Amino acid sequence: MNRLIEGYRQFRETAWPAERQRFETLSRDGQSPETMVIACSDSRVAPEQVFGAAPGELFVVRNVAGLVPPYELDGGHHGTSAALEFAVRVLKVKRIAVLGHAQCGGVRVMLEGAPREARDFVEPWMQLAAPALMALPGGISGDAALHRCEEEVVKLSIANLLTFPWIEEAVAAGRLELIGFRFGIQSGVLTRLEGDRFVPVG
Ligand SMILES: [Zn+2]
Repeated sequence: MNRLIEGYRQFRETAWPAERQRFETLSRDGQSPETMVIACSDSRVAPEQVFGAAPGELFVVRNVAGLVPPYELDGGHHGTSAALEFAVRVLKVKRIAVLGHAQCGGVRVMLEGAPREARDFVEPWMQLAAPALMALPGGISGDAALHRCEEEVVKLSIANLLTFPWIEEAVAAGRLELIGFRFGIQSGVLTRLEGDRFVPVG
């Protein structure tokens, strides 16, 4: 708690005076971010930091492993799909970036199973990404398997984005771009999905 209050005080002292005008403008005019980011909840991978974004620039949804579920109108509580609907149909963002990352605990669950304490929700949630396992080459294991699986999960999320009819339509009309990224926590290097491969962003 103290750390939060301390952080807030620091924000008021330094960031707020510098950003005050921006916040006032955003308050008056509302938000109009051009980019939506879907990222993992992992505390080491903050989209605003990775992309150097200011308040108002990114519409972000974070969940375990940064997954996009397929389009399903089944009456369930679909938080990520609700965020997608708002971003695409109301805010009319121009791009959606899926941001995966290295050493993803969620993706590790797919390869090694969930910790005993996290089987109520984490395990079924990660089942969403099970098709990504099918894309792993035979004989791959350890860190290489994790790395490859993290990339395949990003590809799967992008494929799932296209199951939303209004996303598919916007992409086909050239109004919306879908981008896949993976952030290397140790190296600080961002790679981008180009064709079938992830290449470092220059
Ligand atoms: Zn993660």
